Amino acid sequence: MSSKICVSIGRGRHKHMIAEHRHLVEQGASLVELRLDFIRRAVNLKRLIADRPCPTIVTVRRSQDGGRWEDREDARQILLRSAIADGVDYVDLEMDIAGSIPRFGKTKRIVSYHNFQETPENLEDLHRQMTELDPDIVKLATMAHHPQDNLRMLNLIQSSGVPTVGMCMGEIGTPSRILCGRYGAPFTYATFHHERALAPGQLSYRQMTQVYDFEQITNDTKLFGVVADPVAHSLSPLIHNAAFQHLGMDCRYLPFRVPREDLTDFVQRQCGELGVRGLSVTIPHKEAVLPLLTDAAPAVREVRACNTIVFDDPNRNGFNTDYSAAISSILAVLGESDDALKDRDALVLGAGGAASAIARALVDRGARVKITNRTSARAQQLAEQLSCRWIEWDDRHSFVDGILVNATPIGMHPNVDEAPFKAKVLDRKTIVFDTVYNPEQTLLIKEARAHGCRTITGVDMFVRQAAMQFKLFTGQEAPADVMRSAIHRAIGAAQIAS
Ligand code: NAP
Repeated sequence: MSSKICVSIGRGRHKHMIAEHRHLVEQGASLVELRLDFIRRAVNLKRLIADRPCPTIVTVRRSQDGGRWEDREDARQILLRSAIADGVDYVDLEMDIAGSIPRFGKTKRIVSYHNFQETPENLEDLHRQMTELDPDIVKLATMAHHPQDNLRMLNLIQSSGVPTVGMCMGEIGTPSRILCGRYGAPFTYATFHHERALAPGQLSYRQMTQVYDFEQITNDTKLFGVVADPVAHSLSPLIHNAAFQHLGMDCRYLPFRVPREDLTDFVQRQCGELGVRGLSVTIPHKEAVLPLLTDAAPAVREVRACNTIVFDDPNRNGFNTDYSAAISSILAVLGESDDALKDRDALVLGAGGAASAIARALVDRGARVKITNRTSARAQQLAEQLSCRWIEWDDRHSFVDGILVNATPIGMHPNVDEAPFKAKVLDRKTIVFDTVYNPEQTLLIKEARAHGCRTITGVDMFVRQAAMQFKLFTGQEAPADVMRSAIHRAIGAAQIAS
């Protein structure tokens, strides 16, 4: 039986709660939690549940469990008993009160435990105690500080004799919310809107259905993901999942927030246990994963950074698609042969990970590369590694003709009025390549175009590097246009929201 999505509704007014409940059912929701602790006036329970359009959980959460109930405890328990007497489908009873509220009628009992501090050592003990409180369903929601908390939670769900909904909270816990159904949880929780999460790390109903297609995840679903810290801003889950859906592939791509100290265990052990077959790797882990690879493509060894791992048990093969995507973006504009870069001048702004991959790719194709960076020492260091030249940041406008690459975040949203370079000093034959992809039309790109230069945008590179990862992960050609549309939609939506 497939797992469902329970959408939590927390609104201050009855009429808004009822309207959201109806709206959700129209959108396809089949289970809803009404968080009565959000109602600001006296709760009119009958009004909320009499004509409920789908099975409903009634929850009245105390502040100590992350809720908003501030009235007396006996009033709260009377409300819960009334919900049972009125025959609501489910009632949520915290484990310390579950023993004092008896089963009655058809109402199913969710016995719950919340811990906003940690995923405690005695999680398994707590779960056993909860199973002794006459539950139909046990619910555990604990804060994750380490990705292994997710695995503990998921393994607990799988081994439980009583249906268990287990989720880790916080950004680190997001994979447990997406995967709990695969481990046997009868449902997961989502929020009505992504900006109104009722618990940390909660995804919206829309994200759960449209990005992750939660209800269709099974044991056969192949898993991929991006490992980063933080990860919530990453657009990679959107574009990879859009590509999987477009091709009808039973695959999902998840966001894994992994702190530096947990990276080794995550890559070497947890990915195997979870069944993750491929990872995108991004800030701050691109270098730190190098010792964890069993094999590395030449670009990884040259750039000393890896942005893609393919798991082929027992091997962990590393690739650098930033390197290949940068070159293919430039060659697409030059429209010329493989040696089109030979003896061309290039100036790379920045000396971080992206600069290093792009500069290396340019040097390898015979371009005459100069590096410049706000911190001169880093420019000098990278130039030494690549056997190329560097110039002071203040001298960058001495460059007039060739390929100009911005590999700094200057011009990135919200600082859209900034540009790292005055395009008007450039010769019109210059190609301007801005790696910033949000927005796509940066000030640098706009000014360069207005000046008559050819341009390459960060979206172009981003889609190419993701499409190359997709091919490495699945062996199939990626639907690059679908990925491009997904990123355009996401960038547009982010700008409208802010
Ligand atoms: P990184 O390793 O942190 O390096 C950042 C670089 O930008 C450093 O050289 C830093 O100089 C410089 N920088 C930062 N803020 C600056 C400022 N206000 N003024 C001048 N220089 C500044 O980051 P990264 O991974 O290389 O990423 C850099 C950019 O590339 C980001 O905008 C990212 O979005 C983009 N990128 C795009 C793609 C794509 O597919 N389109 C892929 C990867 C990265 P210091 O050394 O002085 O700190």
